[in-house]
Amino acid sequence: MAETAPRPSLFTPASTPKTTPAQKAQHIQYQDVTIRNWYKKINWLNTTLVVLIPLSGLYLARYTPLTRPTLLWSIAYYFLTAFGITGGYHRLWSHRCYSARLPLRLFLAFVGAGAIQGSIRWWSANHRAHHRWTDTMKDPYSVMRGLLFSHIGWMVLNNDPKVKGRTDVSDLDADWVVVWQHKNYGKCLLFTAWLFPALVAGLGWGDWWGGLVYAGIIRACFVQQATFCVNSLAHWIGEQPFDDRRSPRDHVLTALVTMGEGYHNFHHEFPSDYRNAIIWYQYDPTKWLIYAASKVRIPFLMAPLAYDLKTFRENEIEKGRLQQQQKALDRQRAKLDWGVPLAQLPVVDWDEFKTRCAEGAKLVAIAGVIHDVESFVVDHPGGKALIASAIGKDATALFNGGVYEHSNAAHNLLSTMRVGILRGGQEVEIWKTEWNRLEKDTKGVAIVRAGDQITRAGAPTVAAVAA
Ligand SMILES: [Zn+2]
Ligand SMILES: [Zn+2]
Repeated sequence: MAETAPRPSLFTPASTPKTTPAQKAQHIQYQDVTIRNWYKKINWLNTTLVVLIPLSGLYLARYTPLTRPTLLWSIAYYFLTAFGITGGYHRLWSHRCYSARLPLRLFLAFVGAGAIQGSIRWWSANHRAHHRWTDTMKDPYSVMRGLLFSHIGWMVLNNDPKVKGRTDVSDLDADWVVVWQHKNYGKCLLFTAWLFPALVAGLGWGDWWGGLVYAGIIRACFVQQATFCVNSLAHWIGEQPFDDRRSPRDHVLTALVTMGEGYHNFHHEFPSDYRNAIIWYQYDPTKWLIYAASKVRIPFLMAPLAYDLKTFRENEIEKGRLQQQQKALDRQRAKLDWGVPLAQLPVVDWDEFKTRCAEGAKLVAIAGVIHDVESFVVDHPGGKALIASAIGKDATALFNGGVYEHSNAAHNLLSTMRVGILRGGQEVEIWKTEWNRLEKDTKGVAIVRAGDQITRAGAPTVAAVAA
């Protein structure tokens, strides 16, 4: 899948004396799979951590009894390490949605390492690229390269490192917790992912092996798969209430498996908001925990663990939501027949209009627009006689209250019958200017709201009746 992806020209420098484009293209990502090179396609370190060890854990589980305390500990450690990713790696370090004091940063760096998803620095650099170049080749886990690629393929395959976008992580380099964790990530991983859960279960209730298999290996496997769903499922299933030009979506299912990260359409629009779900009943435990941390005061310091929680103004959020709703409405509007746009109608002289009617055409002029009512005469709710009496005439006033103040539906229906514009018609000059001022939909068709139809006159036009 990813192997066939074309190399973006953007990454080929204009003049590279040392390496030609052909040589550069020799990265394993661009080579066809053969019996000789297939193993080079695989990133073996990542594959070991996210595929082979989890599989061996599932195998070992067949021979390892699961005790009740180990099960409870595994679930608890699952949530702690998942929060290390969602509340720490993601919302604190990647997006700086809030600030955290040292005890909380240490805790999040510890449990985050236990999720086996790389160091904070590596994870955040990728994630910032994902936000900045969503759905492009520079997005490290672009869903455009396939659901499986965005879920796990981007890690287990050996991708050309030059393709993914570069991001600024200088702010992270200023946090010694991040730098230390990055430098010592191997040791951190060994301890937090496997040894620590085994130690707790072993020292706590004597289940060393169960602690390693269930609270260590299998727990990490579940956390990994849940988090990977944010990159895959959250860009695949659900609704797009804020913007539909890119792939992120909101879905309660992805929120349930990712501690609230499933409201991903909102998140991509408002990434520095510490919330992903903004409605109180939506499932976003990460938000609740960050909020709770902002209420917990560190003893002696008397300062909260988390502070400076960022939220976007409600006004901005509602603007996005409304624009998206408008877009959906426009799409529905475009499916309907609103009549031939006025600009496309032929301009007809009054004499020609009269002649055509004398020849048998069933034409009625209303507000300077000529309508062919032939197919409608028999269906006219006001009776055949009334509409027939208007044929060959300017019925502006009759239609607008002279005989009957026609409904909005009638004006809408009338617009579908228009066939021409009357040259020099009384209202033409007025509505031409007005019509140009009307808002246009995405296809350039004027948006006509109820009561704004061109055939609707403010008051019966006496002069027109005389015509
Ligand atoms: Zn995303
Ligand atoms: Zn994000």
